[in-house]
Amino acid sequence: MSKLRSSESVKVVVRCRPMDEKEVSGGYERIVRIDVKLGQILVKNPKGSPSELPKTFTFDAVYDHNSKQVELYDETFRPLVESVLLGFNGTIFAYGQTGTGKTYTMEGIRSDPEKRGVIPNSFEHIFTHISRSQNQQYLVRASYLEIYQEEIKDLLAKDQTKRLELKERPDTGVYVKDLSSFVTKNVKEIEHVMNVGNQNRSVGATNMNEHSSRSHAIFVITVECSEVGLDGENHIRVGKLNLVDLAGSERQAKTGAQGDRLKEATKINLSLSALGNVISALVDGKSTHIPYRDSKLTRLLQDSLGGNAKTVMVANIGPASYNCEETLTTLRYANRAKNIKNKPRVNEDPKDALLREFQEEIARLKAQLEKRGVGKRKKKNRRRQGGEGEEDMEEDDGEDEERIKNEPEYWRAQQEKLEREKRAILDDHSLVAEEKQKLLREKEKKMGDVRREREASEALATKIKAMESKLLVGGKNIVDHTNEQQKVLEQRRQEIADQKRREREMQQQMETQDEETLELKETFSSLQQEVDVKTKKLKKLFAKLQAVKAEIDDLQAEHIKERQQLEQTQNELTRELKLKHLVIENFIPLEEKNKIINRAYFDEEEDQWKTQPITRIEGNQQMMKRPVSAIGYKRPLSSYAKMALISRSDPRYRFCVVNRVQAENILLLELDMPSRTTRDYEGPAIAPKVQAALEAALQDEDDLQVDASTFDPLRSGSLRKSKSSRPKTGKKMGPSFIGSGTQLYPQSRGLVPK
Ligand code: ADP
Ligand code: MG
Repeated sequence: MSKLRSSESVKVVVRCRPMDEKEVSGGYERIVRIDVKLGQILVKNPKGSPSELPKTFTFDAVYDHNSKQVELYDETFRPLVESVLLGFNGTIFAYGQTGTGKTYTMEGIRSDPEKRGVIPNSFEHIFTHISRSQNQQYLVRASYLEIYQEEIKDLLAKDQTKRLELKERPDTGVYVKDLSSFVTKNVKEIEHVMNVGNQNRSVGATNMNEHSSRSHAIFVITVECSEVGLDGENHIRVGKLNLVDLAGSERQAKTGAQGDRLKEATKINLSLSALGNVISALVDGKSTHIPYRDSKLTRLLQDSLGGNAKTVMVANIGPASYNCEETLTTLRYANRAKNIKNKPRVNEDPKDALLREFQEEIARLKAQLEKRGVGKRKKKNRRRQGGEGEEDMEEDDGEDEERIKNEPEYWRAQQEKLEREKRAILDDHSLVAEEKQKLLREKEKKMGDVRREREASEALATKIKAMESKLLVGGKNIVDHTNEQQKVLEQRRQEIADQKRREREMQQQMETQDEETLELKETFSSLQQEVDVKTKKLKKLFAKLQAVKAEIDDLQAEHIKERQQLEQTQNELTRELKLKHLVIENFIPLEEKNKIINRAYFDEEEDQWKTQPITRIEGNQQMMKRPVSAIGYKRPLSSYAKMALISRSDPRYRFCVVNRVQAENILLLELDMPSRTTRDYEGPAIAPKVQAALEAALQDEDDLQVDASTFDPLRSGSLRKSKSSRPKTGKKMGPSFIGSGTQLYPQSRGLVPK
């Protein structure tokens, strides 16, 4: 069930950090001027003439170097987190060049309450909200992940080397498979989760500054709330808050990058450029295809851009002149993002709500506990009716529930009763010793049963308690006086923030109206007045025209630069490709290449090329069977070699070819058998001189033994008909070998089928 609401734009705010010490001591000019009241940012061209007008950008809100963290929170982030508590999905992006305050805005300095960023402030907000709630049950959990070079890492996982995959489900959309999430009961716990993640983030990186400027960190808080609706049914709303500290938006230097470094450079900002492309496609009004699938980041945050979430983007900029270009790029980027329209929707009763699972599990365990108590009691009752004549401490049926509630006392009483009975038996002198022993054994056994029963019930009760403790309910401190005061204070702050926002909106409206009314003042008392008014109008319009022209020039220059960079990357990639081609053409046999090409396919999910596993069944790709002689060996062995393996302890055979192949596993390839055998080929001609030399060399090898067991006398006419595969051992075949020497050897390359 979902409640559809009208569309709303992505909210974009800009924050400019103060000049840092280096910038002040370096005497850099401040080129950014901020009109907080009007929500405008003016950027002066440091190289331009004094008469050149600054570039102006208007946003939902702007924050100058004096801005306080809490100000940003109350005005911009609080309403969004409030929506998450109502069951909307919300996303906060921090975008901007490295060193402009993204992490400061998102995390801030946690030890200083004044300087805490939006993430810790949202923790406080969420848990305070829960503590004040009434008749609602909450479950809060947190996940923390990082995207670096298009790989997703779970910052809370034990194994930090594992990379996660994105999956998609029709009902819930894109999600990270196997991402760990931790249920947190209070601010301290969720802070701990964040600290663990941050630690893991810095441990993996050799240079944290560089790493954080190149990776995206996403902290996810899921708030589930269950409440009995008007229909008397229990309803669950789930809100997910994504807190995203993006990689630095500055252009990565690509010059001279090669091989792995080039791959790295092209991948580092893939998510960011994809984000830019998605934003452009969403706002240009013509695109039918939004390239969400181009990167992990855009896929994961698809809902936040043109989807059903509420989104706030904070663009961070630096004030100094040397940042001018990047500052303008960031502002243009942010300006475009303003026009993205989302359709926020409450997630009501989703199938995968963890809260519902918890509630159901608790109910199940409770029923189990109840059954235990009741079952046992009934059994006892039956026994009593059976007339065992035992004294029974059991309560009546009506007191059943009461007993379950007072479980510990009940068990203690049971235990005491049995102890008492045991003592009575011991003291009873009328019983015969044997009978006494029997009764005592019986009592001992019963006591053991009672103990086990109690332990099982206690384990169940602890489990229920642990699960219940994770479900948070408010309404406890609602009468607390300080809490009340705090609430009023927060309300006031909220009102002030709202008031400020309204003022800004009105000012912005007045500005635009001013321009329109200028054109309406058409009645003039004198010609001079008309000239004056029209000159003024002309001047204003001319200035506007100049500004627009300058903007066009700037954009063109930027496009050219971007294009040049893309071309450069393309050239480098082409060069790399050519090199690979060269290697393939010259060093990889054609048929091997074709085989690999036939098996290669592109895995969209993992964004990389893979090869299909070899199967023997598939049509024309069928592999030949492994030759019988090769069973159990890495390559086929001749009978001679097998015999040599078994029977020769002679050390020289330890190093014979056959043995070495076995020992070293040189080849792992399956063998492709030639379609013809060596018998079908003519031997090569050997020059008489070479032949003589060979003869002489082989003279010394008289001690060499030949396995003649498989020698076929019918074929002894020539060596190529012998099963022995070694020509040099053929010396023992005497004249026939020498005599037919000219035809004995296969021609070079003769094995390749013609
Ligand atoms: P980024 O995450 O964008 O690379 P950081 O958040 O690390 O940038 O900020 C760089 C430096 O500037 C930090 O030392 C931070 O404390 C400081 N800084 C950023 N924004 C502000 C601000 N609004 N007020 C005071 N200091 C700031
Ligand atoms: Mg940072």
